[in-house]
Amino acid sequence: MNYLSQRINELEESATIAMARLSRELQEQGHDIINLSLGEPDFVTPQDIREAAKKAIDDGFTFYPPIAGYADLRKAISEKFKRENNLDYAPDQIVVSTGAKQSIANVVMSLVNPGEEVIIPTPYWVSYSQIIKLAGGVPVFINTSIETDFKPTAEQIKNAITPKTKLLMFSSPCNPTGSMYSKEELQSIAEVIAPHPQIFILSDEIYEHIRFEGTHESIAQFDFIKERVIIVNGVSKGYAMTGWRIGYIGASKEIAKACDKMQGQFTSAASSIAQKAAVKAISTDWSEYEYMRDLFLKRRNLVLDLMSQIPGWKFNKPKGAFYVFPDVTYFFGKSDGETTIKTASDLCMYLLKEAKVSLVTGEAFGDDRCIRISYATSEEILTEALTRIKSALAKLQ
Ligand code: PMP
Ligand code: GLU
Repeated sequence: MNYLSQRINELEESATIAMARLSRELQEQGHDIINLSLGEPDFVTPQDIREAAKKAIDDGFTFYPPIAGYADLRKAISEKFKRENNLDYAPDQIVVSTGAKQSIANVVMSLVNPGEEVIIPTPYWVSYSQIIKLAGGVPVFINTSIETDFKPTAEQIKNAITPKTKLLMFSSPCNPTGSMYSKEELQSIAEVIAPHPQIFILSDEIYEHIRFEGTHESIAQFDFIKERVIIVNGVSKGYAMTGWRIGYIGASKEIAKACDKMQGQFTSAASSIAQKAAVKAISTDWSEYEYMRDLFLKRRNLVLDLMSQIPGWKFNKPKGAFYVFPDVTYFFGKSDGETTIKTASDLCMYLLKEAKVSLVTGEAFGDDRCIRISYATSEEILTEALTRIKSALAKLQ
């Protein structure tokens, strides 16, 4: 008997997490698996941030924090918005959560009614579509391709708008493609949304600091749309703090209040100790942590160089985040004599078995022509992984 709710039965497991779990299980069984599936910096959180957490424990921060986060953390985030993004968000427009993932869930649950549509350019980060479905919303996908650097045009977004559209959501820099929207591109998107007062924009900026060129642009910079933009950000990627579980939003007071109410029923607040660590992280000038971005850049260049020595796949040059998203359709229909590759998922499974490298299928990101490689690991491991992938792919004829 299946006694679980329809809601959970219809929910798909996160593919990134599923692949990471599968590779951990295989490693435990003694297989020499290289895990390039999970997008997670391999650095330990910087020392000064860890010290702040130890101090918080010694200072007795062991009680429930306010639901939306400690006042000093929200003040630090408000100052960060001004300092780094030139955006004005007062502390009461900020809600701290247990990770950007929860922030996204808070926003979607607070805005989207059953049957309302959410426009998502593909490829998109795995959890977007599932969180929308949980809220009863309907994801409306806009296809993009490698030729347009995986970015939709404003015209495509305009054509996807219906009277039921409630939200547009995207990440920049993008997981999984590493693409970044320019100020001009964001402005034309904002102009398309502006005439529709019922449409909001969730701008996921979690990879803000992991960018290799230009400046970070937020769609919230356009005053004519700012009230309807919700910025989602957090400390997981830019400060190597994935395990601490701290994310936040900057939004209108009304949306911030709604997310506070939602969170008050689901989780209370984010961990008191992690919040104090985040105060240290966010109030420190990011140049202190820039060395991590510089390492990601070296790794990106290495991976692109190694990938360009492998025939068949096509890829764009990621400008941010720590992923490459090659188009692997060249391999479809090819076989090593045993396994025939029909889909991107088949190729991922083949590479797991044959090369012992764990990646994520593009299908999880809404693009079944591609696979995702996370390069958030050492140059040595990346070189070994790409060597293995090269020889496994060479067997496909
Ligand atoms: N958005 C994107 C695009 C991501 O890649 C991630 C990473 N998991 C998240 C949100 C969630 O980040 P976290 O919950 O660790 O803050
Ligand atoms: N954002 C990371 C990824 O895409 C972490 C995994 C997750 O939270 O889904 O791999």
